[in-house]
Amino acid sequence: MEEYLPEFADGYFSTNAGATGDGITMTAQFGTKVVGEGSMGSIVAPDGSDLIGVYFMVNQEGERFIGEGEPKYVLQRAVSQQTDQAAYLIADSSYADMETIQEKIEKGYVKEYDTLEELAADNGIDVENLLATVEAYNAAADAGEEIPAAEYSLSAELATKVETAPFYIEKAVLRTFGTIPGIEVNENCQVLDGEGQAIEGLYGVGELIAGNAFTRQYPGAGVGISWAANTGRYAAEQIAESLGK
Ligand SMILES: Cc1cc2nc3c(=O)[nH]c(=O)nc-3n(C[C@H](O)[C@H](O)[C@H](O)COP(=O)(O)OP(=O)(O)OC[C@H]3O[C@@H](n4cnc5c(N)ncnc54)[C@H](O)[C@@H]3O)c2cc1C
Repeated sequence: MEEYLPEFADGYFSTNAGATGDGITMTAQFGTKVVGEGSMGSIVAPDGSDLIGVYFMVNQEGERFIGEGEPKYVLQRAVSQQTDQAAYLIADSSYADMETIQEKIEKGYVKEYDTLEELAADNGIDVENLLATVEAYNAAADAGEEIPAAEYSLSAELATKVETAPFYIEKAVLRTFGTIPGIEVNENCQVLDGEGQAIEGLYGVGELIAGNAFTRQYPGAGVGISWAANTGRYAAEQIAESLGK
């Protein structure tokens, strides 16, 4: 992770204990090239549990950088590109589930403030920008307009306005359940030697070659297992054919 996906290396991992990149390190001696970037995952609380359910998220600059209603894989990629991979969800006193908020305060995941100024200052968020972002967000929500963000936008129907103290903030953590960078193969799943030549008898399948099919972010649920199963079946067919079976 530190070598290929440093921005995700401090995140929360829900991969299995044996997923340590052996497929990449074992084949490096053949000059194999690693292709693809990004991690498959979502954003979570530090223990991997759900974040508070609001649709207002800013970066350290106090800006909404992504439409908060986008799929979890899109949010994860967008957060990974922010300063220090920092992103904050902000709720106000109208939040429906105060029991969860209290539990999260006890765990140290959520912090409570009387003013947005204090909230921003204490968390290293640009105060002026945050106030302007909140004002624009609330106004667009009141007008029933699509609420623009730097990337994509949020439907006004989903808006969770930030208006009444106390205010609550929770920092998002990047969760990884799989990785995209993997060794370069050709259309027959044969591993290449870094100069485009197939290495005889060496095949790659599954997540280890995901970076040949997609990059930057996970396309959607089901892609991991279907890609693994189908490349496995396909590579097996190629091997059988090469052996004259
Ligand atoms: C929590 C979680 C949720 C997921 N949810 C979904 C989902 O909903 N839908 C979906 O499509 N995908 C999902 N995925 C992704 C998907 O499960 C994986 O991408 C897919 O299973 C990868 O299959 P694979 O055969 O390539 O690798 P793996 O299933 O990781 O298999 C690799 C195998 O190699 C073994 N191994 C490792 N090192 C060595 C070694 N040195 N020598 C011998 N053996 C070794 C491992 O023990 C393991 O059995 C999820 C993954 C996780 C972790």
